[in-house]
Amino acid sequence: MFSGKEDFKQAFSERLETKLGKNAKTATEVDAYRALGSLLQDKINKNWLRTDQEYKKNQNKQVYYFSMEFLIGRLLGSNLLNMQVLKVVEEGLRDLGLSLSALEEKENDAGLGNGGLGRLAACFLDSLATLGLAGHGYGLRYKYGMFHQQLVDGSQLELPDNWLAQEFVWEVRRPEETIEVRFGGKVSPIKDSLGSLYFDHRDYEQLQAVPYDVPVVGYNNETVNTLRLWSAEPSAEDIIAKASLKDDFGNFLDHRRSLTSITEFLYPDDSNEEGKELRLKQEYFLVSSGVQSAVRSFDELGLPLSTFSNQVALHINDTHPALVIPELMRVLMDEKGLGWEKAWDLTQASVSYTNHTTLSEALESWPIELVQRLLPRIFMIIVEINERFCQSLWKTYPGDFDRIASLAIVADGQVKMAHLAIVGSHSVNGVAQLHTEILKKREMKSFYKSFPSRFNNKTNGITHRRWLMHANEPLAKSITEAIGNDWIEQPGHLQDLLQKKNDNAFLDQLYDIKQQNKEDVAAWVKQTEGITIDPLSIYDVHIKRLHGYKRQLLNALHIMYLYNQIKLNRSFTIQPRTFFFAAKAAPSYYFAKKVIKLIDTIAGVVNNDPDVNDQMKVVFLPNYSVSTAERIIPAANVSEQISLASKEASGTGNMKLMLNGALTIGTMDGANVEIHELVGDDNIYTFGLSSEEVLEYDHNKLYSSQAVYETDERIRHTLNQLIHYSPFSKGENVFEELYHHLVTHNDEFFVLKDFADYAAAQQRISQDYQAKRQWSVKSLINIAHSGTFSSDRTIQQYATEIWRIQPAKTLKV
Ligand SMILES: *Cc1c(COP(=O)(O)O)cnc(C)c1O
Repeated sequence: MFSGKEDFKQAFSERLETKLGKNAKTATEVDAYRALGSLLQDKINKNWLRTDQEYKKNQNKQVYYFSMEFLIGRLLGSNLLNMQVLKVVEEGLRDLGLSLSALEEKENDAGLGNGGLGRLAACFLDSLATLGLAGHGYGLRYKYGMFHQQLVDGSQLELPDNWLAQEFVWEVRRPEETIEVRFGGKVSPIKDSLGSLYFDHRDYEQLQAVPYDVPVVGYNNETVNTLRLWSAEPSAEDIIAKASLKDDFGNFLDHRRSLTSITEFLYPDDSNEEGKELRLKQEYFLVSSGVQSAVRSFDELGLPLSTFSNQVALHINDTHPALVIPELMRVLMDEKGLGWEKAWDLTQASVSYTNHTTLSEALESWPIELVQRLLPRIFMIIVEINERFCQSLWKTYPGDFDRIASLAIVADGQVKMAHLAIVGSHSVNGVAQLHTEILKKREMKSFYKSFPSRFNNKTNGITHRRWLMHANEPLAKSITEAIGNDWIEQPGHLQDLLQKKNDNAFLDQLYDIKQQNKEDVAAWVKQTEGITIDPLSIYDVHIKRLHGYKRQLLNALHIMYLYNQIKLNRSFTIQPRTFFFAAKAAPSYYFAKKVIKLIDTIAGVVNNDPDVNDQMKVVFLPNYSVSTAERIIPAANVSEQISLASKEASGTGNMKLMLNGALTIGTMDGANVEIHELVGDDNIYTFGLSSEEVLEYDHNKLYSSQAVYETDERIRHTLNQLIHYSPFSKGENVFEELYHHLVTHNDEFFVLKDFADYAAAQQRISQDYQAKRQWSVKSLINIAHSGTFSSDRTIQQYATEIWRIQPAKTLKV
């Protein structure tokens, strides 16, 4: 790497000159960022090549992780960290009058994802490379990533995220690895002269998938894996064919635009938008280029096709890439000449699937008509898979039409992607213990009964290197001083911190670090939002996508209630608190946007009322993203994880906040259950209905929000403020729908039902926070147990239990 600070300074200055024609005096911060990125890329490239060669030489099984989203955020800081040159670079830049953190700010977030699912994929890549495992990401290179959120008069405005306007220094375009992907056309079975059947595909539209490879650098080793992002381009043939129609150049341009539109933008929706043709095209584009590319790499090994599933694992992150199954069948049969049974065995043995949700509106299905028209050959294969599957069911359950219809892949005019994924894979995993149990016992019960051994749990995780070492350097440093640095590569060692439970000096240090982080956030909030907050107040943090089931509304109503208490009763005081929210709403999600409006309105009222000002503030941070998360999480005291029990599959925000010493107020949902199990009742604030109770209510329909409204005076008063004249409604009826959602339409997410219990839990927090030392102990216990939630643990489990891969020993791990 760099032999020292001087060596770095020289290399950097030279790069500024040769790449950009600048020097340290004339370079802008963007110039400096680009020069630094390109310098690091040189270093990375050597190990990148070597990693590839080692994998080939050792014939390591390759895992391809297919995901429509990779929410990777910025890479400069985490690459420097993983390459272990952070200090040298930071000091070298300082000598040259540059600040590393200022350069980091110049990198655009790669926002190629909506939220948790995409961030999980990014954390997995870090752990794969760090563990020396041959695992690569396959995704799409969206020209526009997740939209930029602005609040205008409290309403969300979506601005395009033109993240590629500035050079993305980490990517390498590899046109020589281009793959052809076909859409539409007609397929007919034809017998050749020897009497064997093949499928003739005509009149299709062909486009090119051009890969842009992003290196994934392991921590403290020589492994560099690949995140391959595919970009849609018109094929050369197509351009020539169309361009010869000279009189119709306008048509040609339209055609070109429609082809490249496939990777134009990310769907800004965290559940599936029903039936959008472009979305299905995106999914198949990813799948077809990925499968063909994986098969091509396998071919280079020169091994018999029968060994395919020993060499290749194809993992699908949710059902979005489930077409991997028929696409691999197509390649194995139509291009490699295998018969159905052999192709099917290899496909099932290579593919594994992660389920991310039990929300029925998020279960993907596609109209038959659309699949057939866009993907005629793939549709034929799906129909055949379905028929064979239904026949096998018929043997086990003769005459049970209802059961067979409910399990079928093609039914009710739809292709059901979850069913396809389960039938065509060898492993189906949920993402937290509770979630997996719900899949087995309810949502996928019949499938579980048919294939019990296929189902397993892999509780999600986060890379503690980005979320602690990078986001919260002072805390990481203090932990290492206390227990050594084993925890960095073996996060289970964070448990050693428990020895420090009674160490007052260490507890003081924890408190001081949190306090400094809180002051930094206060300064940033002042600067960016113009809001003055009290660094001594409790920082209560609710950051995640805006969704009914995540219940930001419960938090908001509780703040209104506290405000009312203070206003009504002058002797009522609370432990000072700052409530932070950050959340994007899907552009078409009307309810979610109303909740944002409400939070902003509450902020306006609370922050400007001197009667309550010294006790509470409300801050809505716009444009929630990885970078925002990295800023705010280190300063959090309280982590809001208040989804309606049974609805949040796992959550990973809960893990990031725990790792940074925040205490959870949460329902017994997703991974909160596992956090509770680890830290015990005294170190988490649980409340609310259990998942069994919720599922029971869903079943018996006995919940009446109206009844709660009528019996609980606090709730009634607060809700009436939404529709009657109040500081919040100001006599307008902006929040009428929220009121009706809660009272008239029976409160789908049990907000009113859980209100009292939530308020009580918040009260306990206010009490407990006053015992400063004891609070620090609780915080320490949370940090100490968070090693379980490192994605290193998660990936180790995927590696041994699903993919059956081992580290490449030669790549020094
Ligand atoms: C971690 C993360 C999420 C997921 O948060 P949850 O609380 O688990 O929903 C979403 N967005 C970003 C930017 C994240 O970093």
